[in-house]
Amino acid sequence: MRSISRLCAIALATTPATLSAADRQDALTLLKPDAVFDGESAALHKGWAVLVRGNRIEAVGPAIVAPPEASIIPLPGTTLMPGMIEGHSHLFLHPYNEAPWDDQVLHEPLALRTARATVHARVTLMAGFTTVRDLGTEGAGYADVGLKQAIEQGIVPGPRMLVATRAIVAPGAYGPRGFEPGVVVPLGAEEAGGADLVNVVRRQIGAGADLIKVYADYRWGTGEPSRPTFTEGELKAAVEAAHSAGREVVAHASTAEGMRRAVAAGVDTIEHGDEGTPEVFAAMKAKSIGFCPTLAAGDAIARYRGWNGSAPMPKGVQEGFDALAKARKAGVAICLGGDVGVYAHGDNAREAELLVKGGMTPAEVAIAATSGNARMFGLGDRLGMVKAGMLADLVAVEGDPLSDIAAIRKVALVMKDGVLWKGPVGP
Ligand SMILES: [Zn+2]
Repeated sequence: MRSISRLCAIALATTPATLSAADRQDALTLLKPDAVFDGESAALHKGWAVLVRGNRIEAVGPAIVAPPEASIIPLPGTTLMPGMIEGHSHLFLHPYNEAPWDDQVLHEPLALRTARATVHARVTLMAGFTTVRDLGTEGAGYADVGLKQAIEQGIVPGPRMLVATRAIVAPGAYGPRGFEPGVVVPLGAEEAGGADLVNVVRRQIGAGADLIKVYADYRWGTGEPSRPTFTEGELKAAVEAAHSAGREVVAHASTAEGMRRAVAAGVDTIEHGDEGTPEVFAAMKAKSIGFCPTLAAGDAIARYRGWNGSAPMPKGVQEGFDALAKARKAGVAICLGGDVGVYAHGDNAREAELLVKGGMTPAEVAIAATSGNARMFGLGDRLGMVKAGMLADLVAVEGDPLSDIAAIRKVALVMKDGVLWKGPVGP
């Protein structure tokens, strides 16, 4: 086993701070794994190598001759694949068995949450997830915009971030709850509705949102089942405002009616979808709307409540698997996005393993985690594939993830934007 400190030494030696931009632009690296998973094909390319120049993949194939100035990284026993993309993260949350969501939103200072988020960003990157779609700070305001800048400026290591900022809920429809009704308490998202909704969409975009997240349904009171929150007209107006600004819209929806309204409004992905019906998934397929079943969050919450993982599954866990099966039957594109933050950051592989348990093949899951998510999130022209011209976000894992998805837990190398953050120690 390599020691963590030696891996860190490698990482520090290759941060942007120690290499000038010009040096990095021309730096040539030849990565020599046993095989390449290109992000699209369900078959490995054995004996392929990948040449990286600066922050781009220059060449991929079986007979690449490295120029003499190239540094060569042998990666025996590994599969080299695109950097993985987490579809549903909350870098500003930490596991609910450490602190309940209410306490995180109400009692943790913003600076504490931000400091913790920098650690979450680092462990996510080191787990081979080089991009995250972070779906709301849950009360931490616009701190995701600042964290993204800190990563881009090389101040802290972390994945590329697509950020939702505060997310949008209907007034009265979100928590924390249970206070004297006349008292204003911090909320996990920004309230807006009616005519004001469109302007809140615009303000969030102006403040740095790469995408807009709306809660199409939620519990109106403690102990209630989820019910729709926004009207179809409100959702349509929000989507129109976001799309005209070039931003995708993500809908939290677990009820069939909440999902139906979100689909009718033209959102881009739906999160959770526990009570989705065959009709709703057929409508999603017809409009090419992606689905993130977030199985890992359901699994984690059930375990926090005492479930030991044995049969029978609690209702919430079973509903997630049922929704996945219905969505797949309808041909809906499945996103890999686990709602990580509910459980530990860096454990992103948990959702991948549960998707396999839910019937997807390891190859389908690996494709979803790379080119699938990249296309779904509008990044397909530069990320998600090991192909000449793409950005050099690359991960080497021990073994073959296309036959055993757990291989993505054994990360031997992480490169993001051509910068090596984790790798084998040289001679
Ligand atoms: Zn979430």
